[in-house]
Amino acid sequence: MIFPDIKGNENLKHSLMKLEKSNRMPHAVIIDGGSESARLALAEHLAMWAVCESGGEKPCSSCKGCNLAKAKAHSDIHYAKGEGKTEIYNKDEIMFIIKDSYVKPFIANKKVYILSECDRKLPVISQNIFLKTLEEPPQDVLFILTCQSSKSLLETIRSRAVTFTLESDMNVNEDYLELAKEIAAGMVAKSEMELLMATYKLDERAKALSVLDLVILLLRDGLAVCVGAQAELDSETAETLCKKLTKKNYIELIEITKEAQLNITRNVGLKLVSTDLCAKCRRALWQR
Ligand SMILES: [Zn+2]
Repeated sequence: MIFPDIKGNENLKHSLMKLEKSNRMPHAVIIDGGSESARLALAEHLAMWAVCESGGEKPCSSCKGCNLAKAKAHSDIHYAKGEGKTEIYNKDEIMFIIKDSYVKPFIANKKVYILSECDRKLPVISQNIFLKTLEEPPQDVLFILTCQSSKSLLETIRSRAVTFTLESDMNVNEDYLELAKEIAAGMVAKSEMELLMATYKLDERAKALSVLDLVILLLRDGLAVCVGAQAELDSETAETLCKKLTKKNYIELIEITKEAQLNITRNVGLKLVSTDLCAKCRRALWQR
């Protein structure tokens, strides 16, 4: 397998090459870790590999299959669209995908389905509908699910797929990281004001989603330090959080932050998202 666009991740590349060489490429793949764009890049890279028509190493990036894949115009690569603004993959869409996956590919040897950001978009009801097909997938099909953490998917989904975890993308925007640290500090501050002031700086949707991604990473770092592991993003914040939070607190705060992200993708006003996030954090930490 050729990897032109994916930096680092040497272990992952090695496992992918091994699977390809031994002809054991799975029918269902979960891509987690890294950033949203890195996950999509790897998903699209695997899709291109699946439809590449080259007799040599794949994806060649120059055959008809690869070019159609790059133009997002390959009839055998299907991107799940999701419903409305929330882009939720509802049960009708999953049922359509399942039915469609039993139809032979049009031009390539494989058909690919990409379902991105499943922790936000693939509800439990849809995951349950998907289960049986993942267990006994049709021939010549590759299902690719991306998510921030595979742990957010049902265990039964995870056990039927191979998970590829990307290294975290440390090319973070410094301003966003500073704001994320402010929010994390606000979460454990004595007064509610600190968190409210910090979250009010989330004045634009894409920025808010990225900053909250970092807040989740900081919280995960805190949890890691608490159990004696290393922080990935910022050890100083992790140490501070570690002194103030229990394991249960971390999990709750991560859930609350994810909920805020979901509300942002649902077009809830940013001020309302901030106020709601603050109220929920206070409530979670009062119960200590
Ligand atoms: Zn090709």
